Amino acid sequence: METILPIENELNYMILPTLSIKNLHKSFAANEVLKGIDLEAYKGDVISILGASGSGKSTLLRCVNLLETPSSGEIRVNGELIEMKQDKKRGAVPVSIKQVERIRSRLAMVFQGFNLWSHMTVLENVIEAPVHVLGVPKKEAIEKADAILQRVGLYERKSFYPGQLSGGQQQRVAIARALAVEPEVMLFDEPTSALDPELVGEVLSVMRGLAEEGRTMLVVTHEMAFARDVSNKVIFLHEGLVEEQGKPEDIFSNPSSERFKQFISSVY
Ligand code: ADP
Ligand code: MG
Repeated sequence: METILPIENELNYMILPTLSIKNLHKSFAANEVLKGIDLEAYKGDVISILGASGSGKSTLLRCVNLLETPSSGEIRVNGELIEMKQDKKRGAVPVSIKQVERIRSRLAMVFQGFNLWSHMTVLENVIEAPVHVLGVPKKEAIEKADAILQRVGLYERKSFYPGQLSGGQQQRVAIARALAVEPEVMLFDEPTSALDPELVGEVLSVMRGLAEEGRTMLVVTHEMAFARDVSNKVIFLHEGLVEEQGKPEDIFSNPSSERFKQFISSVY
């Protein structure tokens, strides 16, 4: 009997999505921005989210990260449902702030504009959440941060302030900071859009490395080469709905949606 349990556990582990989104809606006042999104990310999935400006890509990531509260629908992280309730005045609100904080701390987000703390050094930026949110002892957090900074190629700059770094270096610090909380899912919102063209490559190559080591990632991007070569699934949003989705090799060579066809030809 003892051998059966681990096998079942392993199976459960394999079939349970790391992130599951069902019929997600989000309105800002009368403006319905997300109109029923379904999305599942399994461990190791790298999902590129494409779509025109205003299609709801950032709102989708912000709902996943609970920076916005969905108006309705379901979000589960490792099977755990994020509980919402309807409040007469405020609409949908989370039931438990503790749950929100715990889950948010495991869904690291990398923003277009880096969002580093400018008054903190690179190292301080990276250890901030582990030490102050997750309660990791400082010495341990520093050892881990050193290793992470090595891998994004910024160990030598650990005592620099963000203002002393290039945009590409700042974004790599932001990725290091995201990695430091050992995230279940990494969320990237146009991580290279604010960079000078010559700095895009160094950030994409760090992201490619993360994908290759099996990280689960949702990436809003306009980098078609990344979507095609690095992600294993692509989602195209149009006006708050999934208009096209599939494996990149299928949908880029044989798109079924006319809008997606136009989108691809407009960004290439
Ligand atoms: P994308 O990232 O695809 O460009 P967004 O998710 O940022 O699109 O925005 C989608 C729509 O939602 C836009 O019409 C935008 O004006 C609206 N929106 C986004 N955030 C807010 C907000 N905090 N308050 C009101 N409207 C918002
Ligand atoms: Mg956006």
